[in-house]
Amino acid sequence: MGFLPTRPNWAAGFGPHWTPGEAGAMARLDGFLETRAKGYAQGRDFPAAENVSNLSPHLQTGEITPRQILASLRRAEGLGDVGQRDGAKFLAEVGWREFAAYLLFHNPTLAADEFQQKFTPFPWLDDPKDLAAWQRGQTGYPIVDAGMRELWQTGTMHNRVRMIVASFLIKHLRVNWRAGLAWFHDTLLDADVASNAASWQWVAGCGADAAPYFRIFNPITQAIKFDPDGDYIRRWVPELADLPNKYLGAPWQAPGPVLDNANVALGFTYPHPIVDHASARAAALAAFETL
Ligand SMILES: Cc1cc2nc3c(=O)[nH]c(=O)nc-3n(C[C@H](O)[C@H](O)[C@H](O)COP(=O)(O)OP(=O)(O)OC[C@H]3O[C@@H](n4cnc5c(N)ncnc54)[C@H](O)[C@@H]3O)c2cc1C
Repeated sequence: MGFLPTRPNWAAGFGPHWTPGEAGAMARLDGFLETRAKGYAQGRDFPAAENVSNLSPHLQTGEITPRQILASLRRAEGLGDVGQRDGAKFLAEVGWREFAAYLLFHNPTLAADEFQQKFTPFPWLDDPKDLAAWQRGQTGYPIVDAGMRELWQTGTMHNRVRMIVASFLIKHLRVNWRAGLAWFHDTLLDADVASNAASWQWVAGCGADAAPYFRIFNPITQAIKFDPDGDYIRRWVPELADLPNKYLGAPWQAPGPVLDNANVALGFTYPHPIVDHASARAAALAAFETL
């Protein structure tokens, strides 16, 4: 219909991530239930693992419904393809989407206003340079940069990494969650007003079921825990590919010779961290205290 971008074709990388249409949606669900659903309950937290369904763009566009998912899941469980624990966890995630839709229905300003109004006067810094570094995947924190580059190149981002990058923007950089929500809305294939707003508010601590405000994801330990072999970071931040796993989450901690061996020149081939984790964390907590 002539809607595809041409100059430039910024959607060129999207192909493998979404075959629009009902047939694509059913094929993806069947493929997931036959193979990748095994181990979903644990594997869903590891961005390099292939354990998630990638159904969200199909759900968002109405190419598949939660009831179709439920029916297919029950069949797969009956055949023994999917275990009870993995099936229950998967269904619970689909349930979060329903919950977000419910929240938006009853709170039409969910994408604009803090659900818990006591958080409204939060002292944001809103530095445009910080926002731009985050959007471009140039924060100097490899797990954050990997996620933001994955988003730009593919229109998708793994849920674990969405939580990490959102927490980093809101708490480390103290950029208003609405700016992150807007960027996600522009760039995600599954951009959904309800799920996006409920999730950003969850991370910010101001949502209905929110993470406690003092929970600040540590982008260094999150990388170690959820990308232990560094496959995800190496894929999206290739300039760090030759660093040993030990330093992949925090390249500035690597001794000079290790950086040299990996051809990493901080400030040239890869940025220095734009904020110091410990002091940014302390400043965020102090800002929350003012509320
Ligand atoms: C800051 C932030 C913003 C987000 N924005 C969106 C968005 O715009 N659109 C969107 O669909 N999801 C959003 N999510 C939720 C979640 O990241 C995606 O739904 C999930 O990554 C999609 O991948 P999947 O289909 O492989 O998920 P799976 O793990 O296979 O889960 C199956 C389905 O359950 C639903 N689901 C899973 N996790 C969540 C969740 N936390 N909240 C709501 N529904 C969920 C999705 O529809 C998903 O397709 C956001 C999460 C965060 C932290």
